[in-house]
Amino acid sequence: MTTSYDVVVIGGGPGGYEAAIRAAQLGMSVACIERRLGKDGKPALGGTCLNVGCIPSKALLDSSYRYEEASHHLAVHGIDVQGVSLDVPRLVARKDQVVRQLTGGIAQLFKGYGVTWLQGQGRLLAGRRVQFTDLAGQEQELTAQHVILAAGSEPVRIPVAVVDDERIVDSTGALDFQEVPRRLGIIGAGVIGLELGSVWRRLGAEVVILEAQPEFLPMIDRQIAKETQKLLAKQGLDIRMKARVTAAKVVDAQVVVGYEDESGSKSESFDRLIVAVGRRPVTEGLLAADCGVELDERRFVHVDSQCRTSVPGVFAIGDLVRGPMLAHKAMEEGVMAVEVIAGHSPQVNYDTIIGVIYTHPEVAWVGLSEDQAKAQGLQVKVGSFSFAVNGRALASNDAQGLAKFIVDAKTDRVLGLHVLGPQAGDLVHQAMIAIEFGASIEDLQLMTFAHPTLSEVIHEAALSVDGRAIHAVQKRRQ
Ligand code: FAD
Ligand code: NAD
Repeated sequence: MTTSYDVVVIGGGPGGYEAAIRAAQLGMSVACIERRLGKDGKPALGGTCLNVGCIPSKALLDSSYRYEEASHHLAVHGIDVQGVSLDVPRLVARKDQVVRQLTGGIAQLFKGYGVTWLQGQGRLLAGRRVQFTDLAGQEQELTAQHVILAAGSEPVRIPVAVVDDERIVDSTGALDFQEVPRRLGIIGAGVIGLELGSVWRRLGAEVVILEAQPEFLPMIDRQIAKETQKLLAKQGLDIRMKARVTAAKVVDAQVVVGYEDESGSKSESFDRLIVAVGRRPVTEGLLAADCGVELDERRFVHVDSQCRTSVPGVFAIGDLVRGPMLAHKAMEEGVMAVEVIAGHSPQVNYDTIIGVIYTHPEVAWVGLSEDQAKAQGLQVKVGSFSFAVNGRALASNDAQGLAKFIVDAKTDRVLGLHVLGPQAGDLVHQAMIAIEFGASIEDLQLMTFAHPTLSEVIHEAALSVDGRAIHAVQKRRQ
């Protein structure tokens, strides 16, 4: 039997489920195929993000931050807490409850919008047909006016450190430790390494991060990256750069990791090792050999700026395609693909995709860094301001970091904002809006920011671009 839909979405992660909901809002008949089973063994929507990514990692970051606050940082407020203790299984169970609530919410939204959730595997065939295999192995063929491929990504595997899901884990395993490792090794000082490293360090682990590259967080402004590295080191994350892992073996319940750095070959023993060396698109099992969809040289599905693949009527979005692997990018691409299908002409602004690392303080950025702007031949002016003199940050005993604006010196246009500081992930949206609307730095300088707020750091950083910050003695004045 063949069933026909206006739109078939393969993958029910943030990209896929938002595409399905938007298509239903526009009156299309929609099926979303998702094969994932949740931790409870039941079919689950929400993809990597809701099940084993953004949400569970943030739940653990929040719990671990509270534990660290209660253990070490309340005395300064005059609050003495005694007998703080940790129940890791309960902490992990809370995380699971948050995940269940959110994935269940997507299922409710599907019901409400009349989106058909097909539980199982989808495979694109030639001629915009889709093979659907349900969880019992029963096959069915679907036809669609349009197909949206939203199969997401999975962790990169490296032969020198093979994941055994016990001692050597990927990011998914690292969300479910039932006790705090005494010594935790992490391969990769990327976003996952820093976030999950922070979780387990706050809960009491000694954390060593081995990073092959010489440059720390190459995607962010150098000044912010340097400050971040210093701050994380002060918190106790032992980050070793230019450290290339050559082997990882389990010996007597310890993971023995061999690596090479500038001074030669070294070895370390850990109770657990997290492999966090990047993610790759999931194309295996997704595309029939004759379906016609082309991949690029890095094996991402090749798409144009509006997410059309090489096959008319077939779109691909999210982690499956070029660009940063971020949930909000996937969501916007899902909505864009559907709007294109509906005959509209939307365009995701890839220049304003925000990046956030949810350490404490957070690191967040939008637009260009100083070096990136200069590399584009732009004449830039910059201004920065520290959280150390911000009234609100000091009142909350959370006054570390700085905000830095990058501005086009010729046009006065805002090019980028990079922030290390409390709530940086929220604060940076102010510059996202400014860039989106083509604002000048003068526009931001002339606005009135509420006092006392963390946002005043953004205002002062904007003023400092022209030597006008009030709460700093600036040499250059305009
Ligand atoms: P996914 O979320 O990967 O969803 C794809 C879905 O498709 C999966 O559920 C998969 O089971 C299903 N699928 C694949 N192939 C098939 C098939 N053939 N048939 C049926 N179903 C299929 N991003 C952020 O923006 N902020 C964060 O804070 C953040 N934190 C993260 C933390 C961790 C630990 C990790 C691992 C990732 C994090 N990310 C974060 C990245 C984010 O999770 C991804 O960018 C996002 O989930 C991508 O969405 P997607 O819809 O493209 O794919
Ligand atoms: P990443 O690309 O951010 O970092 C991987 C790091 O591992 C890199 O610095 C790389 O140089 C290093 N590396 C690679 N091979 C190595 C080796 N053999 N030895 C030592 N170091 C090695 O990847 P990730 O941290 O795994 O995260 C994957 C994706 O998930 C990212 O693209 C990110 O966008 C997304 N994510 C986002 C968030 C967020 O938005 N807050 C959180 C987690 C994950």
